Amino acid sequence: MLVKTTVKPRGARFPGRYIQADGAMALLGQEAQTYGKRATALVDRGIFDLLEAEVTNALAGRVDFDLARHGGECSEREISALAETARSKGADVVIGGGKALDTAKAAARDLGLPVIVVPTIAASDAPCSALAVVYNEDGTVAYDSFLPNNPNLVLVDTALIARAPARFLAAGIGDALATWYEADSCRRSGAFNCMKMPGVSLAFEVARFCRETIFEFGVAALSECDAKTAGPAIERVIEANILLSGIGFESGGVAAAHAIHHGLCELDDVHHHLHGEKVAIGVLAGLKIQGLDDEFIRVRDFCRLVRLPTRLADIGIADPTEAKLAIVARRACRAGEIIHNEPMPVTETMVINALKALI
Ligand SMILES: [Zn+2]
Repeated sequence: MLVKTTVKPRGARFPGRYIQADGAMALLGQEAQTYGKRATALVDRGIFDLLEAEVTNALAGRVDFDLARHGGECSEREISALAETARSKGADVVIGGGKALDTAKAAARDLGLPVIVVPTIAASDAPCSALAVVYNEDGTVAYDSFLPNNPNLVLVDTALIARAPARFLAAGIGDALATWYEADSCRRSGAFNCMKMPGVSLAFEVARFCRETIFEFGVAALSECDAKTAGPAIERVIEANILLSGIGFESGGVAAAHAIHHGLCELDDVHHHLHGEKVAIGVLAGLKIQGLDDEFIRVRDFCRLVRLPTRLADIGIADPTEAKLAIVARRACRAGEIIHNEPMPVTETMVINALKALI
């Protein structure tokens, strides 16, 4: 049969289901039960003691389960250890909590099992995505593992997230801030999303709504987080940081802000700063590259209100030499990099000049 080669598909991808509530953890057992009789749950060691009783209570009486402590980063060793445990116990579903969620996604993929992810902070838009970032044993990034499916369920307990330090929520706002600007760049250039095709219009509307939501509720959400309260504003911002940004970036596409983030990560100076904090600097530099000065001022003022960095010194680059900026620009602009999804050609010099505006 002849394959029609003129088809120009557009698309979007989503997590199977998304549930968010103050106290959503209590639903974990009944949700796990819909996938089978036995669950293997992996919880990040940093929060294991905090969550052990809550997870045990949620699962007990609903499914047979075993609860394992995650060793640290998502590495090949951790992924195969979890897959081995789940296989030997005969698990029907894999659950990953906290930093363990990428390990759970990758192990579930290897086993062909459904996966439930339970984020405990809202510091990035990773939870809903079909992506696991795999680290080397020394803590450096090894590679991005693209998964065939998004998680079957993303279960978000807003009370849990409200109890985490507000800095994580602010970083998630930084990651969510990039979503509209990058998706809009891809829309204008016709660049591909994570499915290697342009996004459908829904993707861009979700990205736009993501930006509107953080602009409207970001400041109030941080106040609620300071008070450790899952109030109405943090509910909206958590949804923006995790769900809207997750759909927006995967289905809309990524561009300059994340490319500049990757460039910044070449410098040791920034290693104590969170993904979303560096992405916020990438958004500001991206607006400078596009010459959108009014929007730059609007976004910079917003970043100040939501405790995001607006200058290179704020992410540890106290001494931004020409040589350092050149390293960032070279990485950001390498061939095939997502910065070339922008609607105009971007050169290393343009990136350097944009970064100089943030000194
Ligand atoms: Zn990101």
